[in-house]
Amino acid sequence: MDYGMIGKIEKAKRYAEERERITIEHFRATFDGENNPHMVEFVDGQWHCDCNFFLSRGVCSHTMALERILEGMLRTPLEVA
Ligand SMILES: [Zn+2]
Repeated sequence: MDYGMIGKIEKAKRYAEERERITIEHFRATFDGENNPHMVEFVDGQWHCDCNFFLSRGVCSHTMALERILEGMLRTPLEVA
């Protein structure tokens, strides 16, 4: 492997520890729920999920789980404005 690539890999490892460098603007995932798969999206600082709980409450276990996984990397509505 050439030195250029070795340097990039080292930098990538360091970056991966520095989550605050990363801001997720748009995000879409299929979440394999206990009953059905769900489509979860994060667009313009807002979560969306196609499960029934989210439709009535605006938040659900799927969005909360992804919030935990992506902690520190999500653009909040305040930052969007
Ligand atoms: Zn959901």
